[in-house]
Amino acid sequence: MWIDSHCHLEPDDFLRQTDAGPVDDRDAVVARARQAQVKRFVVIGSGGSEREARNALAYATRDPDMFAAVGIHPHDASAVISRKLPKGEKPQLLGEELWDEIAALSAHARVVAVGETGLDYHYNHSSPEEQVTLLRRFVRLAQTLHKPLVLHIRDAHEQAMDILAEEGGSPAGGVVHCFTGGPEQAQKWLRLGFAISLSGIVTFKSAAPIQEAAKLVPKGRLLLETDCPYLAPVPMRGRRNEPAFLVHTAEFVARLRGESQAELSEHTRSATEQTFGLPAQ
Ligand SMILES: [Zn+2]
Ligand SMILES: [Zn+2]
Repeated sequence: MWIDSHCHLEPDDFLRQTDAGPVDDRDAVVARARQAQVKRFVVIGSGGSEREARNALAYATRDPDMFAAVGIHPHDASAVISRKLPKGEKPQLLGEELWDEIAALSAHARVVAVGETGLDYHYNHSSPEEQVTLLRRFVRLAQTLHKPLVLHIRDAHEQAMDILAEEGGSPAGGVVHCFTGGPEQAQKWLRLGFAISLSGIVTFKSAAPIQEAAKLVPKGRLLLETDCPYLAPVPMRGRRNEPAFLVHTAEFVARLRGESQAELSEHTRSATEQTFGLPAQ
């Protein structure tokens, strides 16, 4: 069995068009995942509002195989820091009210991690200053709650490591999700106590450095994820991603590492359970 260590299950992303209008496709999506042996899920509730956090927590409280992580995405750091969203949407809460709500939800027993949070200097939807300020807050929140961090880092590995060091690190560890660095950065994150999670990006032709990194991550520190609805792996690339597609990434990574699927399934499952402190099944 597989665990999708990072999936987004927002209603708007999983609408299926029918003659009677759009219908919520998520129950079918989760059923397909289970059929594909993707049996446990860390649902990420991290966007620019409290809505995503509440959605993830709702999944986690009604389904014993689902767990939540709660945060504000670095793209949307401005919602807390500058009380505005880069996309121009108007969430119900902004600024400190939004922060307080996210911090309160993070303490819930079914919330197994803080995040995703981090730095994305590839897109810079929020300014680097806003992203840094919010990341520092989340690092401290994770320390206070003694929960692991889910980090989203793009083109900012060194800066993120510096901030972690300045803030006293992450005593409960965490994961660098959707890893897009190379072997050197993977080694550094591993030394800082973080696990590395691979998304469908590792299957892309352009992903040679990520593939090199994937080969060197030791058993027990490697996680798999879809990060759906985006970044569907080859051969599903370009389609809406969903947790069932994890098996394609798994097949690719097993071949890459010279492992059997059973071996990869066993050690990634155990690494995910350990990283997030999930109850053993
Ligand atoms: Zn991310
Ligand atoms: Zn994500």
